[in-house]
Amino acid sequence: MSSKDWIEKDFYAVLGVDKAASADDIKKAYRKVARESHPDHNPGDPKAEERFKAASEAYNVLSDSGRRREYDEMRSLFGSGAFRRNARGGGQPGGMPFDVSDMFGGGAGDRRFGGGGFQDLFSSIFTGGQAGGQAAPRGPARGRDVETEVALDFGDAVRGVTLPLTLRAPGVCDTCHGNGAKPGTQPQTCPVCHGAGVTTRNQGSFSFSEPCRNCQGVGTVVEEKCPECHGSGGVTKTRTMNVRFPAGVADGQRIRLAGRGEPGERGGPAGDLFVHVKVRPDELFGRTGDDLTLTVPVTFAEAVLGTDLRVPTLDGAVTLRVPPGTPSGRVLRARGKGVVRRDGQAGDLLVTLDVVVPARVSDEARTALESFAEQTPPAAREHLDARVRRVS
Ligand SMILES: [Zn+2]
Ligand SMILES: [Zn+2]
Repeated sequence: MSSKDWIEKDFYAVLGVDKAASADDIKKAYRKVARESHPDHNPGDPKAEERFKAASEAYNVLSDSGRRREYDEMRSLFGSGAFRRNARGGGQPGGMPFDVSDMFGGGAGDRRFGGGGFQDLFSSIFTGGQAGGQAAPRGPARGRDVETEVALDFGDAVRGVTLPLTLRAPGVCDTCHGNGAKPGTQPQTCPVCHGAGVTTRNQGSFSFSEPCRNCQGVGTVVEEKCPECHGSGGVTKTRTMNVRFPAGVADGQRIRLAGRGEPGERGGPAGDLFVHVKVRPDELFGRTGDDLTLTVPVTFAEAVLGTDLRVPTLDGAVTLRVPPGTPSGRVLRARGKGVVRRDGQAGDLLVTLDVVVPARVSDEARTALESFAEQTPPAAREHLDARVRRVS
């Protein structure tokens, strides 16, 4: 068993005995608990089984005087600092820490939005030096972050676009402003815990705090429920907002919109909205960073003789000069015709020339080509020919 287990577990409380109990008292107490919670007497009762196991564990330590001393020392070391003392444990040396598992086993939670209550409750109980087991009022809570995905057209992503975005997410009920009470009525202080959100249970000479079962730890109860949210304080809301996608937003990028997530609770700040951007491919243009790419087929004659090409850009068209003797695969650059960045500078349009070889030619063209071939020096393949001779 680790020391952490020892700090968190209250073996005396498990057996219901005083910290100063004699070995004999401990043995008697253990026998009583073990008898009551024995699985044979409580078939199919997991709580009894748990209690039985806990009692065995506790007795295991407390029945051994050496281990008991070690345990006491560790508890007095940590009991004064890490955990706040039980109000009724003030007279006991070392005090009695709260049993953490006991507190949170009962399903303490934020009844309004089904989460977050655990942490709130934990921090409010284990911070601050209030006496008497009073939980601090629960403070503001930041709203949750929301994630969504948006598909943009290629051109919209390059130029930037503002789109309406509709989100369905839990929000605070407008009718009751989140307190769950029918308009004109107010949530009442919980009569069981008197607003503390925790109740104290006595066991032997010790007391334990646990979340109030009557109000689920909230501290208030609603007598007449809000008709809109049926007392939950929360409703599913459809929100539509205009979202600006900056020019040049890329596929796979995530845009964070601070404060556009779920509203906070009890005056807390709103969460953030994260938009995952998908960019639909364009049928003509590709994109590499801030440059747009385009492949343009040219004939052999155009590549050899040179030509002026009229090519489209995302906005309009440009004329590109193909100089005589341009090889296939050459990339021509149309400056400033790419993606306009935030600083106002723009990428380029990169045009790749693709010399197309006709699959079939006319007789006249064949004759002309044969004539062309006769007047053209052979391709520079000497370096390959040398290797061919060596290996064959
Ligand atoms: Zn409501
Ligand atoms: Zn209560």
